[in-house]
Amino acid sequence: SRTTAFLGLGAMGAPMAAHLARHARETGGRALVWNRTGARADAHAREHGSESVTLPDAAQADVIFSCLPTSREVDEVLTGLEGGLRPGTVWVDCTSGHPEAARRQSARLSERGVTFLDAPVSGGTAGAQAGTLTVMVGGDAAALEGVRADLAFAGKVVHVGGVGAGFAVKAVNNALLAVNLWAAGEGLAALARAGVDVAPALEVINASSGRSNASENLIGQRVLTREFPVTFQLGLLAKDAGIAADVVRAAGASAPVLMQAEALFRAAATVVGAGEDHTAALRLVEQMNDKEIR
Ligand code: NDP
Repeated sequence: SRTTAFLGLGAMGAPMAAHLARHARETGGRALVWNRTGARADAHAREHGSESVTLPDAAQADVIFSCLPTSREVDEVLTGLEGGLRPGTVWVDCTSGHPEAARRQSARLSERGVTFLDAPVSGGTAGAQAGTLTVMVGGDAAALEGVRADLAFAGKVVHVGGVGAGFAVKAVNNALLAVNLWAAGEGLAALARAGVDVAPALEVINASSGRSNASENLIGQRVLTREFPVTFQLGLLAKDAGIAADVVRAAGASAPVLMQAEALFRAAATVVGAGEDHTAALRLVEQMNDKEIR
């Protein structure tokens, strides 16, 4: 029977690993979980029927998932369990990582007969809870087919290219999220300064060609309500915008609007706080305009 291990039970990892535990129950497999702060893994096991294990025990799984803040933490964890890895294992890294790290990690793991897939996800904590995440996968297509049935948290799985392509697509997607969010904030702040009520303006935009996921969902639910609930940290989106800038530069592409996203979201993380929700970046737009978006 099949054994999976999930490393990193954060805002995304915990609900994703809960789907692996459910899938294991349904198929007679095992779902191991590991978290740096072990109490969270123990709580996950109690709540979802996963098995809280040590890092060396997690290395024994057929499929190892990770979902950590950045590729740097994946490197650290990889170092911790490298010695226990078995040939034939597939490592599915769901971190929003860096394409260059993926190529390095893939080469390092292949020395042990382990296949690395960069498999970042989109859909937020709500998508993770619902098990409807979009997964963009870079790496060996045959290895993906071998683990496709294990991706119990996924709604849509797309193979986008070789090692690192998943991380590159994710970075560009999130740079687009950053640009759309920021630009919608600028537009609404300008309208507020012009004396236009924000709520009807947003209603119109959301029935018009200027709409985006940011305008349709994020701004109404998180900014206008002044709630800014933390489900995706501003510092993580700034990190993603930085990876997108690296992708643009490495490709020799010209993308001046996307390149702005890194500087704007770094500034927002500095001024507003990296641990705030990503939508709180609009607090900086508000400061720049001396006007609240409400
Ligand atoms: P969280 O901050 O909620 O969770 C981070 C996890 O990483 C925790 O389990 C934490 O463990 C662990 N961790 C942190 N540092 C280390 C370390 N040095 N060694 C081992 N473990 C470590 O982050 P998210 O779940 O929000 O994000 C995870 C990834 O998913 C990021 O790359 C993010 O960009 C991406 N993502 C996030 C989305 C979201 O909506 N939140 C959506 C899509 C992608 P501990 O409990 O010990 O702190």
